[in-house]
Amino acid sequence: MELRYVRHPGYIGGSGGLSDFLIVPHGRVPMKLHEYQAKEVLRAYGVPTPRGSMAKTVAEARSAAADLGGKVVVKAQIHAGGRGKGGGVKLAHSVDEAERHAAAILGMTLVTHQTGPQGRLVQRLLVEEQLPIEREIYLGITLDRALSRPVFMASAQGGVEIEEVAARDPSAILREAIDGAQLQGYQARRLAFALGIAPEARASAVQAMQALAKAYDESDASLVEINPFVLTTDGRAVALDAKMDIDDNALFRHPGLAELRDLDEEEPLETDAIDHGLNYIKLDGNVGCMVNGAGLAMATMDIIQYAGGMPANFLDVGGGASKDQIKNGFRIILSDPNVRAIMINIFGGILKVDVLAEGIVAAAQELRIGVPMVLRLEGTNVEKGREILADSGLDFIVASDMKEAAQQAVARAG
Ligand code: GDP
Ligand code: MN
Repeated sequence: MELRYVRHPGYIGGSGGLSDFLIVPHGRVPMKLHEYQAKEVLRAYGVPTPRGSMAKTVAEARSAAADLGGKVVVKAQIHAGGRGKGGGVKLAHSVDEAERHAAAILGMTLVTHQTGPQGRLVQRLLVEEQLPIEREIYLGITLDRALSRPVFMASAQGGVEIEEVAARDPSAILREAIDGAQLQGYQARRLAFALGIAPEARASAVQAMQALAKAYDESDASLVEINPFVLTTDGRAVALDAKMDIDDNALFRHPGLAELRDLDEEEPLETDAIDHGLNYIKLDGNVGCMVNGAGLAMATMDIIQYAGGMPANFLDVGGGASKDQIKNGFRIILSDPNVRAIMINIFGGILKVDVLAEGIVAAAQELRIGVPMVLRLEGTNVEKGREILADSGLDFIVASDMKEAAQQAVARAG
C-alpha cells in the first residue's frame, strides 16, 4: 500500500501538526518498474500474466494488437497508478480501434490521483490481450516495519483504490506475515479460502500467491502490488496489473533490474542529486535548505515551518560533505525556480566549520547565487568559519541560532 501523501513510497510520512510535511528518508529512493517490466519479472517466477507487449510508437502498438487478434487492452505505462480512471487504460475490439487508442494515449499528459496535477507524459504503452474478468482481487506485499517482516496482503475488494478500502474498512484487508522468505502453502490457502476463491481456481491462485512472494523476496522488492488480480470466467487466476518497487540499496545485486530504470519517469533534480551522493527531495515551499545530516535537515524543515514559512526542499549533503557536494547542492537548490532564499544550516562535526565555510564561499562565488543566504553555523572551528564568511565579501546573513536563521530566511523569502 503506497503512502501517497509523500513523494516516494520509501519515505515514511509523519502525521499531524507541524510534522505533517516531514519525510523520513528510509535508505534511498526505491526504483520503480513499469507495469510491463514488473510483469516480465513476475512471469519468470511463474505468476500468470496476460499475453502482451510494450510499444513505443503507434505502429508498434498496432502490430502488437494484430498479433493478439485485435481484442486488446491499451495501457499507458507511467510510474503511477489510477490510470484507468484517468483515461490511460482503454479496451479495443479491433486492430483499428487499438491503433486509435494508442494514438490518443501515447504522448498524452495523463493525470491521475498519483501523478499530481501536472500529470505525466505517456511515452510507452502496454498492449495486452483482453481477459474475461469474473472477479477482481487485491494482492500486495510490502515490509511491515512494526513486525520487521514482509506482509502479504489480500482483499476481496480489488480493482478499486486500496487506500480507500483500508480507510473505510481495515478488516477487509487480510494479512499474512511472511517468516523467512516464503509465503507458506497453508498461508496462501488460508487467504484463498478467506477471499472465497472457487475450488477450480484455488490451486492456481495459491501457486500465483506463492510465486509472487518469491519474486518479492528474490528481487529485493520493497513493494509488489497486483490490483487487480483477476479470476477469469474460464477459471484462471491472472495478474492483470502489476506494480513493483525495488529497494535501491540492493540494486547492485540485480544488474538486470537496474537496467530497467526509466529516467524519463524520475524528478530530474532528484536523479541529479542521487548521482552526486546527495539526498534531495523537492518540496513545494520557497525556502531552500542546505543542511548536513538527515536529522538536522528535518529539524531545519520543521523550524522553517515554525517560523511561518515552507521549505522548498529536503537536502542532506552528508556528514562529511565535500566542496563539490556543497556546490552541487547549491546548484540543485537553485534550479528550483520557487526558491527565494536559502537557509544554510551546518553543524561542523566530522568536517570542521572552517572547511565547510570555504566550500560555501567557493560555491557561492562560482555559481553567483542571487538569492539571500541565511547562515547558521555551529561546531568545531566555528569562529574561524565565521571569519571566512565575513571576509568573503559575499552577502551572507549570519544568524546566531537556528530559530533566528529560520525567521530571517522566511522573512527574506517573502
Ligand atoms: P490502474 O487504473 O492504473 O490501476 O490500471 P489497471 O491495470 O488496474 O486497469 C484498470 C482497470 O481496467 C482494471 O481494474 C479493469 O477493470 C480494466 N481492465 C484492464 N485490463 C482489462 C481486461 O483485460 N479486461 C477487462 N474487461 N477489463 C480490463
Ligand atoms: Mn490497477
